Amino acid sequence: MTGLPTFAIPPTFLGIGLRDRASPICVAGIPLDIGTTNRSGARFGPEAIRRASRMLVDGEHPQHWVDATKLPLADIGDFAIALGDLHGSMALIEEQALKIEHLVALGGDHSITLPLLRALAKRRGPPALVHFDAHVDTWPDNFGQTYGHGSVFYHAIEEGLIEPRRMVQIGIRSPVPRQVHDWTQARGVVMITAQDVHETDPAAVAGRIGEVVGDAPVYLSIDIDVLDPAFAPGTGTPEIGGLASWQVQAILRRLLGLRFVGMDLVEVAPAYDAAEITALAGATMAWEYICLLGLRR
Ligand code: MN
Ligand code: MN
Repeated sequence: MTGLPTFAIPPTFLGIGLRDRASPICVAGIPLDIGTTNRSGARFGPEAIRRASRMLVDGEHPQHWVDATKLPLADIGDFAIALGDLHGSMALIEEQALKIEHLVALGGDHSITLPLLRALAKRRGPPALVHFDAHVDTWPDNFGQTYGHGSVFYHAIEEGLIEPRRMVQIGIRSPVPRQVHDWTQARGVVMITAQDVHETDPAAVAGRIGEVVGDAPVYLSIDIDVLDPAFAPGTGTPEIGGLASWQVQAILRRLLGLRFVGMDLVEVAPAYDAAEITALAGATMAWEYICLLGLRR
């Protein structure tokens, strides 16, 4: 706690200082949204998430009893991108991520995850993956373009950046070509649909995630459109029937034993938000993740 009222805290993530990249855990914004296939605007995600995150610094996590602001955490600002150049931006993102020990990335659209996984695989080999999303994001292309936010995990699997048999997707529900769906499952990826989540409980979902991931190093990628548009209208490709904020939170809080090596929170597009609820949901999920890291330290 800083002693300042939350609204008066400087708008970094959790009000933490813009400290150096050598910190054990670094938060960075990646304001890239030219990989979107529908509504753009996620380039404004990092600043909105940072502003909303100040709601989370007036005490400890009420279940884990971790004060995230006391962890060795730095907000290192935003990554440099190449304006209007998706390929150039991906190369820049990979280069910057390579230097960081443990990154919590605030998007930006989901296309940022591919260069982040390229960097991670170079640093420590292919991780397991926990992927919250309305979409499988394993389309082989995006309306003819090789790269984009719909094909992140197609390329990640094809390039051997992740272990598809240790990959689990939660909240899936969008329309999808049958062959894209079947290709994904044939790689060994486990899909827990939004309906599966609704018809069971968070403990069962968390248990299934734990079974898939095991004790492998694991990366967490959360597309905010995993939430129902009622809870997260501020995103580019909303799909109804999604998870409630509490469901994602209750699942995350149970992922205690996992060996996390990095995280991203993507697709917050503030122009379509209402009363900052999407930005607050995004900030809270990143904070939940950081508190999990705190438990392991
Ligand atoms: Mn999505
Ligand atoms: Mn996505």
